[in-house]
Amino acid sequence: MDADELDGLADAVRTADTTVALTGAGVSTASGIPSFRGEDGIWNEWDPKSFHRRRLDADPAGFWRDRIDLRAALVGEDPEPNAAHDALAAMEADGQLEAVLTQNVDGLHTAAGSDRVVELHGTNRRVRCDDCGATAPAAPTFERAAAATGDGPAASAASLPPRCDCGGVYRPDVVLFGESLDDSVLEDAQRLARESDVFLAVGSSLSVRPAALLPRIALDAGATLAVVNFDTTPHDAAADYLFREDVTAVLPALAERL
Ligand SMILES: [Zn+2]
Repeated sequence: MDADELDGLADAVRTADTTVALTGAGVSTASGIPSFRGEDGIWNEWDPKSFHRRRLDADPAGFWRDRIDLRAALVGEDPEPNAAHDALAAMEADGQLEAVLTQNVDGLHTAAGSDRVVELHGTNRRVRCDDCGATAPAAPTFERAAAATGDGPAASAASLPPRCDCGGVYRPDVVLFGESLDDSVLEDAQRLARESDVFLAVGSSLSVRPAALLPRIALDAGATLAVVNFDTTPHDAAADYLFREDVTAVLPALAERL
């Protein structure tokens, strides 16, 4: 890691009024969560069509059966926050970070203690009623739903898909294929990008909207851009600071310098 680059970035963060971080899959892989895209990605192994909005409408029980299997693959190891999540939470607690915008749906920033987290694609920690919008914790809902797919006594008592008290179908509180991002969430993220003096793009390939757009919004508003990612991103050339390194090394080193 280039110490001068890191010192420079730490100076920029320290003197900034507003620093905002955008995080992607690279921040979660160190917690054992497979990435969704790319060669070894979840969507290479699982058919995205099974999790499409149209499938939920046409075959909610089948959607849920596949979703139960997917969840087991994603959280089977009971993932915990890693040093990158911890560093961002510590920066916020110290008043050095305004918010985390994340493409991740694993809830690990909140678990690490980050307070202001804008979850661009929603969260797998909650389910939401598709009719009335009421939310509930995902874990017990998935447990009941999984029991309904087994052979045990609970199988006859419960049924798929799980439903809200209002009778509506529960669905994961994430943006499904075939759905658009929540407007208010997107506006929140865009405003934070515009207000930022330093924009940290961390562990994201910055190739998928809206993550692809947010660094550009920050740059156009005069922000300093730092990119921390193993692979190249479309914003590398515009970045004031570029670390092609492990996020779990760079972020703690940055937090330590603040
Ligand atoms: Zn409902």
